[in-house]
Amino acid sequence: MIYQRSSALFAAAQKVIPGGVNSPVRAFKAVGGDPIFVKEARGAYLYDEDGNRLIDYINSWGPMILGHAHPSVVDAVIQKTRKGTSFGMPTQIETEIAELAVSMVPNIDKIRFVNSGTEACMSAVRLARGYAGKDKIIKFAGCYHGHSDSFLIQAGSGAVTFGSPNSPGVTKGTAQDTLLARYNDLEQVEQIIESNKNEIACIIIEPVAGNMGCIPPEKEFLQGLRTLCDTHNILLIFDEVMTGFRLAKGGVQELLGVDADIVTFGKVIGGGLPVGAFAAREDIMNHLAPLGPVYQAGTLSGNPLAMAAGLAMLTELNSTPGIFKSLADKTEYLHKGIEKALQHHKVVHTINRIGSMISVHFAKDKVVDFETAAHGNNETFKTFFHGMLNHGIYIAPSAFESWFITDALTYKDLDDTIEAVNKVAATL
Ligand SMILES: *Cc1c(COP(=O)(O)O)cnc(C)c1O
Repeated sequence: MIYQRSSALFAAAQKVIPGGVNSPVRAFKAVGGDPIFVKEARGAYLYDEDGNRLIDYINSWGPMILGHAHPSVVDAVIQKTRKGTSFGMPTQIETEIAELAVSMVPNIDKIRFVNSGTEACMSAVRLARGYAGKDKIIKFAGCYHGHSDSFLIQAGSGAVTFGSPNSPGVTKGTAQDTLLARYNDLEQVEQIIESNKNEIACIIIEPVAGNMGCIPPEKEFLQGLRTLCDTHNILLIFDEVMTGFRLAKGGVQELLGVDADIVTFGKVIGGGLPVGAFAAREDIMNHLAPLGPVYQAGTLSGNPLAMAAGLAMLTELNSTPGIFKSLADKTEYLHKGIEKALQHHKVVHTINRIGSMISVHFAKDKVVDFETAAHGNNETFKTFFHGMLNHGIYIAPSAFESWFITDALTYKDLDDTIEAVNKVAATL
């Protein structure tokens, strides 16, 4: 395939935008080459500036779970746009989407809308600290909760108690309040809690990890965290920015039957517009301004276009019977096909899958945390990525990302993808 125009557009972008991109994951730094510029997208396909058609397995990093330019989402946005795009005053649609979200997700009475997943997680942790009257938080190496300071803590190996910043600009003071643990290692969490008695406000976790490739929690891990939190009076925050409204109507809480105290959302909840949200029981949410002392605000929060897109998306998901099963079935079909192709060509790999999230780790051993994810062979991944791209299949340009399955994918698309894997695997 030819990417002449994309490369020219990238050259122009680099002159006025740092690295030519507005979010680093879009650059091809990990795989080499120039990023592809999108012209438009429909259903399961991207059409780039050079006229190539690509089967899309990123789907805007998750939001487009029903495919691109879904008619009901597009219509909802167009209709709203004609009536004015922002007021900074309450609108009825904010209550409508809040009512629907609260009805779909377990354990939440109230929800507040923000503009991104980053904002949602940042605000959820502030709320947890304000509610609990404690400062420290526990996060897991390899989990991503957006780019606010408390979360940009180095993924250190071993029993790391105090985090250190992995981005310049994050102060030592902030880093000290974030304690790091290994994903799927309950014992380590217990030790951290023991050595920080009565200081920990909350544990924040991706209940199914998606930001070190897809890593589902081991059996009993989440329930173990729940029990620890109850015992030690710590709030449990499920960051469901990726998994919310994707793995089930009620996200991981519903799928795996474990209750969180605060839940954060993003991606799917905005239907492709900039939306995030955080939600909890009433007594926790009532600590937020203007009812309570914990401050949180946003000029464009609850923006009517964003709410219209989100409401249309959640309405589709809520009213389409079997949608999550259909997504999971397609993902399983893809898993089996890829597995067979890689085995046939004797490519060392481990595939992780849950619901409509899947990732191919080019690693020999089971991938259960950041360390084992990092064992994957990045050279193999690079060749795989570019090989798939040459066959018109677009996966994330990094080995540490999940693939997102959309319901717009047909079984023919999946077969084409498996066939591409088969051809690429022969070259690995
Ligand atoms: C994407 C993501 C975020 C950040 O959301 P943004 O909208 O990019 O700020 C936070 N947490 C998780 C689990 C995510 O996948």
